[in-house]
Amino acid sequence: MQVFHEQLNTAVLGEYDIIVAGGGVAGVCAAVAARRAGIKRVLLLEKGILFGGLATQGLISLYEPICDGKGHKIIYGMGAELMKLCMRYGPDVLPEQWRDDPDTASPDGGKYKTFFSPAMFAMALDEFVLDAGVEILFDTQVVAPVMEQKQCVGLLVENKRGRGLYRARAVIDATGDADIFCRAGAPCVTGQNYMTYLAYRADMESAASALSEKNIIHARKWTLLGSGPRGNGHPEGVPLISGTTAEDVTQYVLTGRKMMLDSMRNEDRFARDLSILPTMAQFRTTRHIVGAYSVQESDLCRRLPDSIAAVADFLTAGEWYEIPYRALYSPEYPNLWTAGRTVSADGWAWVVVRVIPGSACSGQAAGLAAALCLKHGFTAATLPYSMLSDALVAEGGRMHAE
Ligand SMILES: Cc1cc2nc3c(=O)[nH]c(=O)nc-3n(C[C@H](O)[C@H](O)[C@H](O)COP(=O)(O)OP(=O)(O)OC[C@H]3O[C@@H](n4cnc5c(N)ncnc54)[C@H](O)[C@@H]3O)c2cc1C
Repeated sequence: MQVFHEQLNTAVLGEYDIIVAGGGVAGVCAAVAARRAGIKRVLLLEKGILFGGLATQGLISLYEPICDGKGHKIIYGMGAELMKLCMRYGPDVLPEQWRDDPDTASPDGGKYKTFFSPAMFAMALDEFVLDAGVEILFDTQVVAPVMEQKQCVGLLVENKRGRGLYRARAVIDATGDADIFCRAGAPCVTGQNYMTYLAYRADMESAASALSEKNIIHARKWTLLGSGPRGNGHPEGVPLISGTTAEDVTQYVLTGRKMMLDSMRNEDRFARDLSILPTMAQFRTTRHIVGAYSVQESDLCRRLPDSIAAVADFLTAGEWYEIPYRALYSPEYPNLWTAGRTVSADGWAWVVVRVIPGSACSGQAAGLAAALCLKHGFTAATLPYSMLSDALVAEGGRMHAE
């Protein structure tokens, strides 16, 4: 490859205690958790203009269950707090038996999960982040970490102003793609994605359904083409891709949009519409860090000694994985954490722990861990688990499923 050497004079734009890169569900929870823990200067950088990531820009508007499918609530802390937030201003379809947030309910009365409005959730997230006193910048792409050996001392960004550096004492990589870890040279694992395209369809049937149910959420249909999470429905001849290059992203979204258009091409154009298209590529698993521990499929329903939360398997009732604190950092990197769909986990365990409630919980844990390390002089690897779990419990979290 030919190399062009740039010479840059990069402006130093600010100094923060904690910077969170990426304002998806994991990133907003990390930033808010750090502020609630008393950290003064927390900056949240988002390349788009909406918080929520896949859950809003990506239209993935099904909050997976925070119960185990057998009638027991197992997700607490921000995993549960965000579920309430996704329903604060928009419509939902939460089963009646969970409305008062009980710890147990009938296994036959429906799971503790709901569809929600991505637009109303995004606006609720604005309040969530701003009320906590987090400083934010939209339209700001984190380009690279600045490293002194294994210590991350700041993030280079690009935005309308140009290029700049924000110095940081601790950094949380919530980019969904482990961009910061990868560019810091930390070991990462790249995923392979089935082809999925999800958009909202509105037609005469959905309009009638909204009227009869008296619930506007039915006015749009969650229309998923291609593959489910296990590869069922993956279109023949379409290669699996990682989603970690612009070429991958371009190919993926164009294939998805063509699939959607082909499915509608011959319909009466006055009788249906797509109310909105996703503005973020819908990759499930692009890249995850190699943490001090990687959750394995064999960890199914296993109590892990440093768990920060349990996450229900959305397909199989009674099954869950716990997310260990060790999955949020790479041992050699003292002040870098990740959260969300990039935590260290393999196979089906990765698919389970990265769902929206799991991402909220790992975000909260990463934000708290970074705050505790700054306050008490620990590194990611030396932070005593008991200190983190006590802080999580004080914030409403629960570490184990049983
Ligand atoms: C097809 C599909 C179906 C799914 N179905 C469900 C479901 O039904 N229920 C469920 O609970 N979960 C589901 N998921 C999983 C869930 O949506 C995600 O795993 C979860 O929302 C991930 O959150 P996150 O914050 O880790 O990452 P993301 O949502 O990816 O957020 C990352 C954010 O970082 C920003 N960003 C990225 N790079 C940079 C950068 N360099 N600089 C600045 N900002 C950056 C992005 O713009 C984005 O806002 C599904 C996912 C897919 C793809």
